[in-house]
Amino acid sequence: MTFSVHGLAVARGIAIGRAVLIASSRVDVAHYFVEASQVEAEIGRVRAARNAVVDELHRLQHEMPRDAPPELTALLDVHLMLLQDEMLTSGVKHWVTDRLYNAEWALTTQLEVIARQFDEMEDEYLRERKADLEQVVERILRYMKGAASPVAAPPPARRRQQDLLLDDTVDVPLVLVAHDLSPADMLQFKKSVFAGFVTDVGGKTSHTAIVARSMDIPAVVGARAASQLVRQDDWVIIDGDAGVMIVDPSPIILAEYGFKQRQAELERERLQRLRHTPAVTLDGRKIELLANIEMPEDAPAALKAGAVGVGLFRSEFLFMGRQGDLPGEEEQYQAYKRAVDGMQGLPVTIRTVDVGADKPLDRSVRDGTHLNPALGLRAIRWSLADPSMFLTQLRAILRAAAHGQVHLLIPMLAHASEIRQTLSLVDFARAELDNRGQAYGPVKLGAMIEIPAAALSLKVFLKYFDFLSIGTNDLIQYTLAIDRTDESVAHLYDPLHPAVLKLVADTIAACQAQGKGVSVCGEMAGDVAFTRLLLGLGLRSFSMHPAQILAVKQEVLRSDTAKLATWAQHVLEAEDPSKTLLGT
Ligand code: PEP
Ligand code: MG
Repeated sequence: MTFSVHGLAVARGIAIGRAVLIASSRVDVAHYFVEASQVEAEIGRVRAARNAVVDELHRLQHEMPRDAPPELTALLDVHLMLLQDEMLTSGVKHWVTDRLYNAEWALTTQLEVIARQFDEMEDEYLRERKADLEQVVERILRYMKGAASPVAAPPPARRRQQDLLLDDTVDVPLVLVAHDLSPADMLQFKKSVFAGFVTDVGGKTSHTAIVARSMDIPAVVGARAASQLVRQDDWVIIDGDAGVMIVDPSPIILAEYGFKQRQAELERERLQRLRHTPAVTLDGRKIELLANIEMPEDAPAALKAGAVGVGLFRSEFLFMGRQGDLPGEEEQYQAYKRAVDGMQGLPVTIRTVDVGADKPLDRSVRDGTHLNPALGLRAIRWSLADPSMFLTQLRAILRAAAHGQVHLLIPMLAHASEIRQTLSLVDFARAELDNRGQAYGPVKLGAMIEIPAAALSLKVFLKYFDFLSIGTNDLIQYTLAIDRTDESVAHLYDPLHPAVLKLVADTIAACQAQGKGVSVCGEMAGDVAFTRLLLGLGLRSFSMHPAQILAVKQEVLRSDTAKLATWAQHVLEAEDPSKTLLGT
């Protein structure tokens, strides 16, 4: 039966495929396809690991002291029984043989199928066996991790949808459905096999959504109970423009969305023609379109989209998902250098680490450790709390600046004392490199305007910094007191609130008055609905995901900034700017 689940639209486009349910705790398991010739070996890997676990449990049974509690013996029996369970073994075989999933992926997929059945059981004792099954699978996975894999390395990129056979067994596009994914988890899927994503939780500018958008595949977040309502392998459609997932679509709906999908593909191809067109408005203003990146490996996509530099390299993605082991100076230097080299002489703006809030270092420290993580030890506050870690990053960035144009950007500043402390640490990092006799390059220094307090005290920012970059995602969150990750208040997250627009407009005007550079690098910059308004407010530099650059360029080419300036003042003064915006 067809039904739909509604959430928030975060990444454009239509995906049609089968649902892959992944528990949040299982995302670190490798997901890739194997070749048909590898199926037997892959099943053999699971079998060998399972046999090893069986042997281990038998050994534990034999070594059990006589006075051991009877529950323990019973538990081992249950685990042994689950290990031999036909549903587990035949299910794993099915996913490997029919879908060509790698062994670990097949195992966790079958775990989800059986776990769902346990959840539906009336009998409480049986329902609780789900935890035992999870432990058993965990043991098998651990064995597989320890054993050398006979399988070749996973293919580097996801299979493109158009390369796939629309056969009902293998090679069908896959859509990932999960309760929650951390931004670091999302990054793991960047080169994955998935054609779309749906999560139960999350807001439009949560970092999970931002990474999904950077992958340029359809995504819906905040879809509440999606992961409960969908079953493993259901056919689904993700409409990333409308924020809807349609489950078990009828043939008519499938045909309609297939058509929409082709239309979107044609539109993308059409936009490609603008790649080499300079971003100049009708009245001759040159507009700078920059890229936001998460990893150095994103640089080629930025160049391909025609970006004239990187306006925001979110360096924290180098720090996340490493079980607390932070990247050292050399590793960071190499990563920044790769980004600089990758941009082939164009400027790269490296933002110092912004962990905290919805970007935890590790999943283990994710929930409940701080009462108000977005208001807590985040971004520059985190860096200043650990000067040695911060100096390591500063040295690495300064050294990378010897290889090309680098701008250093500091997130979440609010106080003059923080600014002074930060700048003296930058000087200190330079002095350390001088002492070592190590080469480094000049950097332009920039601050992000993300906290209303910063936007209201621009004088001190303009005194100390060469340029400002407006982080509208946080500026909106903190101005309106809306948690950007919380879908229950997503309807109040309003980029067009008069207070937000005033802070943005004042920041642009103050920079212009002093001849300092200013850009917007929040999601507003990549949303074509706001391009003309930002141009009208005087913005000339936009930084966004590479995938959005051509659509924004198209808007720029159709705009006349002189006319837009008068209109933008009306929007600024309106009681309800969104109506004025739509009315034009
Ligand atoms: C912002 O806040 O707008 C921004 C660009 O930074 P981030 O989204 O990484 O918080
Ligand atoms: Mg921010």
